[in-house]
Amino acid sequence: MDNTFPGYDTLKSKFETHGLGFAIPEKKSVFIDLEEVANDNLTNHHITFIESHEVAHINLKHSGSFNKQQEAEADYVGILLCKKLKEKQAVKIGIENFRSRNGVSFKKYHSNNYKNVKNIL
Ligand SMILES: [Zn+2]
Repeated sequence: MDNTFPGYDTLKSKFETHGLGFAIPEKKSVFIDLEEVANDNLTNHHITFIESHEVAHINLKHSGSFNKQQEAEADYVGILLCKKLKEKQAVKIGIENFRSRNGVSFKKYHSNNYKNVKNIL
């Protein structure tokens, strides 16, 4: 959504606590702050990755407040979803940012966690 979306001003405060995107699992909805995406000069590939990250939160049935472990898991499953959709540039963006976002390399996380998530892909 951008600032023409009804309710943007109200939802804007949610982006301030959640970053560029957030998901409402009960509604199976994902919201992305396109104003901020434009300000940060992000590409459609970034949007694809953010979307996949939020969809991953829903598929993983995450709930509650911000939690580092859930964020790492959503990044990881988000990357695998992009891979499945053959969104190569989005996969690249996810992997490149994985370590700085989650404090562990994608490779290491993958070797420890693939078995836990393969059923939901
Ligand atoms: Zn997240």
